[in-house]
Amino acid sequence: MQSIELTATHSAAKDWEEKMKADGVDISACYQCGKCTAGCPMAESMDYTTRQVVRLLQMGLVDEALRSNSIWFCLSCQTCSTRCPKDVDPAKMMEVLRWESQKQGVAAMPNVIIFHKAFLEAVKNNGRLFEVEMTMKNNLRSRDLFNNVDLGPKMMFKGKLQMLPPRIGDNGEVKKLFERVRERRGG
Ligand code: SF4
Ligand code: SF4
Repeated sequence: MQSIELTATHSAAKDWEEKMKADGVDISACYQCGKCTAGCPMAESMDYTTRQVVRLLQMGLVDEALRSNSIWFCLSCQTCSTRCPKDVDPAKMMEVLRWESQKQGVAAMPNVIIFHKAFLEAVKNNGRLFEVEMTMKNNLRSRDLFNNVDLGPKMMFKGKLQMLPPRIGDNGEVKKLFERVRERRGG
């Protein structure tokens, strides 16, 4: 059985309790009822369920949480946060862990990060999602040039895909939003 350094995990637990509180997530309020996991559509695919991720943080086992696939399988659907009787906000917890996991370079699913970045850059550059830019960046960076390209013509035919960037006028406000988040989170 793996041994655990109790002093170190206690201090990590305290640090993360504070860190999460700054983002409005009260890890210490969780009494492990499991309602979050019971409603999570991705629970079966996760290394650790939502309830277990909260427990890892309570125990100071932060590295396990940061390296788990759970934070990347999370869809941000908010079901867990809506169901939680203690207002812990596990969906927000997953988001904070994703940022930290990227910052530390320990993310379990690198291709998901490539997709996240391509998605966000396409939104930032155009004010809303421009699928062509996102797909090109995602496929180039993940070295999977033909990933999903067969879907392009079908989507265009159904009017779901535009070849030109969307026109929303000045997207300066969207860029400012991105900058504000970057300043707050770093990375
Ligand atoms: S629903 Fe809330 S209180 Fe219950 S296990 Fe999940 S986070 Fe903890
Ligand atoms: S927000 Fe994430 S963790 Fe919460 S229920 Fe949805 S998929 Fe599961």
